[in-house]
Amino acid sequence: MAWRIPLADLDYGPEEEAAVLAVLRRGWLTMGEGTQQFEEQFAKLIGVKHAIAVSNATVALHLACVALDLGPGDEVIVPSLTFVATANAVLYTGADVRFADICGTHDLNINPQAIEQQITPRTRAIIVVHYGGYSCQMPVICDIAERHGLHIVEDAAHAPGASLNGKSLGSWGDAGCFSFFSNKNLATGEGGMLVTDLDELTQHARLLRSHGMTSLTWDRHRGHAYSYDVVDVGYNYRIDEIRSALGLVQLQKLACNNERRKHLVDTYVDALASVRVEIPFLDSEGVSAFHLMPIILPADVDRHRFMDRMKQAGIQTSIHYPPIHLFQYYRKRYPTVSLPWTEAVAAREVTLPLYPTMGEEAAYMVVDEVKAALQEASVQVA
Ligand SMILES: *Cc1c(COP(=O)(O)O)cnc(C)c1O
Repeated sequence: MAWRIPLADLDYGPEEEAAVLAVLRRGWLTMGEGTQQFEEQFAKLIGVKHAIAVSNATVALHLACVALDLGPGDEVIVPSLTFVATANAVLYTGADVRFADICGTHDLNINPQAIEQQITPRTRAIIVVHYGGYSCQMPVICDIAERHGLHIVEDAAHAPGASLNGKSLGSWGDAGCFSFFSNKNLATGEGGMLVTDLDELTQHARLLRSHGMTSLTWDRHRGHAYSYDVVDVGYNYRIDEIRSALGLVQLQKLACNNERRKHLVDTYVDALASVRVEIPFLDSEGVSAFHLMPIILPADVDRHRFMDRMKQAGIQTSIHYPPIHLFQYYRKRYPTVSLPWTEAVAAREVTLPLYPTMGEEAAYMVVDEVKAALQEASVQVA
């Protein structure tokens, strides 16, 4: 379906085309120099020692969990109002998740007090998610982690270029995980990055990224090695030169595009001032990456009808997120979980279109349709 205004859109142009063409002409497709450059420049952006490019953020999260030695008998505290990969990555290792509630409709991030309530003798780590690119309360969460001897992994899939107190999101914990999926702020189709300051974690993650092998095809190609040993049960979580080339171009555009997103969010917030919706993160701290534009509908509005009405107007909307603990698999595995704020928000949240190439007039058009859809989908009017 051709949307008048889609939920998200790429900012691709001649630079991306030229970068891909250059890779094809160089004739080296698997991890090589372009990937090394992408890693170095991404590490510089985040202000960390190491960046490890991988196939996607899901495997970045998995590598972080494995490299932190999580496994059966361990528990990891995660939010439920996130993409399912955040929790799946923990379960891959044989560890269990414990879900913590969010702060409320004003702040859709994990609540530090809820984290503390979920800590047991088996807790080993916390995975925080910076929803929409807005920072979690990292100083408080780091303090909790320190007092209880817990690792922190940041799911920073929404947050490249975001910061709190001048420190990049993704660099607060033991490891940060970024996504370059096609609808994210920095898009390569599929792709991800694991960042960290820890040397040992880096070594382990680099080994596991490529089958636990002690040398890469690239090393052998350059004549640096003839053979290899396998020192661990690794995976194939590699990225390739085509995606790294796209990533390098997109990295150049990131700051500008995040600024553009900020301007559109400001436009939305102004235009929605007199509209009967709640807007989360209005008093958030730090610099957001403005990945999403979430609104919370009034309780008397039928969300399904609201979204249908937006669709009829050619405007794509979405829900971030159906909470993980209410999915069939997770319900069966963790039947007693109850998260009042997560459930309340998840039932009323709608995400509006937001992407850097979107015009201001498109934001005004969306708000006009939001007003009309609210009227039509309000239960009293029906
Ligand atoms: C997109 C996303 C992921 C997964 O990223 P992939 O690169 O698609 O694996 C994980 N967590 C969050 C919060 C995401 O938005």
